[in-house]
Amino acid sequence: MNLSVRARIEDLLVSSPVGSLLAEMRANGAKMPWYLAWLERTQWASPARLHELQDERLRRVIGYAYEHSAFYRMRLDAVGFTPERFRGVDDLQSLPVLTRGDVREHFSEIKADNANHIRHQLGTTSGTSGARLEFLRDVETMQMGNAVQWRYWRWHGIRFHHRFAQLSTVGSAESRGAPPVQYSRGSRRLTLRLRSLDSESLGQAIDRLARFQPDAIRCGSTTLLTHVASYVMRHQPQCCRPKAVFAGGERVFPDQREIVHEAFGVPLVEFYGNWEYVVFGGECERGRLHLAPEMGCVEILKDGRPQPPGETGEIVVTSLWNRAFPFIRYAIGDVGRLEGEPCPCGRGLPTWRIVGGRQKDLLATPVGYLHLSGSLLGTPRWRGKIQGLRFYQETRSDVLVQIVKGPDFRNEDVPALREDIDRCLEGRLAFTIQFCEGLADTPGGKYRYIVSKVPIEI
Ligand SMILES: [Zn+2]
Repeated sequence: MNLSVRARIEDLLVSSPVGSLLAEMRANGAKMPWYLAWLERTQWASPARLHELQDERLRRVIGYAYEHSAFYRMRLDAVGFTPERFRGVDDLQSLPVLTRGDVREHFSEIKADNANHIRHQLGTTSGTSGARLEFLRDVETMQMGNAVQWRYWRWHGIRFHHRFAQLSTVGSAESRGAPPVQYSRGSRRLTLRLRSLDSESLGQAIDRLARFQPDAIRCGSTTLLTHVASYVMRHQPQCCRPKAVFAGGERVFPDQREIVHEAFGVPLVEFYGNWEYVVFGGECERGRLHLAPEMGCVEILKDGRPQPPGETGEIVVTSLWNRAFPFIRYAIGDVGRLEGEPCPCGRGLPTWRIVGGRQKDLLATPVGYLHLSGSLLGTPRWRGKIQGLRFYQETRSDVLVQIVKGPDFRNEDVPALREDIDRCLEGRLAFTIQFCEGLADTPGGKYRYIVSKVPIEI
């Protein structure tokens, strides 16, 4: 059979409801649709019922970790805690917190002694600092994590047969060695890895998007997505009209939402996730960021004590699924708060806000932190004048504002630019402007709007 005819037939099969479901099961595991069906029901359960579900799973996770992980057995013994005494979520605070340093130093002791009998893969993450962290994620954990993501995508009208475009960079830790353009016919997913934020890379990415006409765009760096959206606005305003655009990986600013909305014709929908598959958050149709309590437990800690809704603290998470490499009370490096009032969408899933993450999102001032209210890049008066912008901070006393000039930038714009940056910083931080040719990615291979070397202290 002619190859192109065969490809066309395969494409038709995949785009049928049954074909796309089978392709998804091949890509994400046979149990994924069953988990998804379960999650579609549990999202409407009461908070009390979801709490019970977490208690049940947690008892299993703690019992399993005690039996199979030398690291957790030693830790539980050290605080005099046996799995039989463990009742659920409320007992978590009796256990010590797991740091990224612990994961790095004690990989082989944390790993379950029977991990070789559990299907798993080696995961890595780099974070903004570029320091590599290795861990295991088992198949069950990934199937549940993928089902949680599908539930979220479905809130925004995305179905198995829809076409996905994934945007990232060639340098990110997760992409290393992968080709710049990859298409998976089975999952109808096009992955575009940009080499840099220059016109050539952006232009090529947008041509691909225009040809592919995705139903959904997903990007794990809001900064990267904002650059793509700005380029679309300037050069190909009708490039594509997806049903949804998902972005995360760092804080989302209101003017970034505006520019993405203008460029693609749909609102930006925020998500929060991590490669450890421990926790996931996604905005619902009403714009609130819901947690997936079926996937992991979230605690908000300040000085080691759990905080009530509304109070900001360090985010500590426990996986309810990973047996090969248990994550129990894992300090993921981000700061946030739970919200108390239920979401008008009617789901029982708790909602939260991410305030910021390690070395990104937050600028330190001599007396606390600064939450920037806008990104400047999306501001209409600077479109065409500013092509790239980054806040780079090494000390609490000042910040370097790195700017890549756009084609319309004139020297007379400098005083107004100084004024707008000062307003953006609320006059609370001294700054220096540095004009550069381009913005380099972070050691972790991501483009970030804020890079801060000042440690977060809550
Ligand atoms: Zn909601």
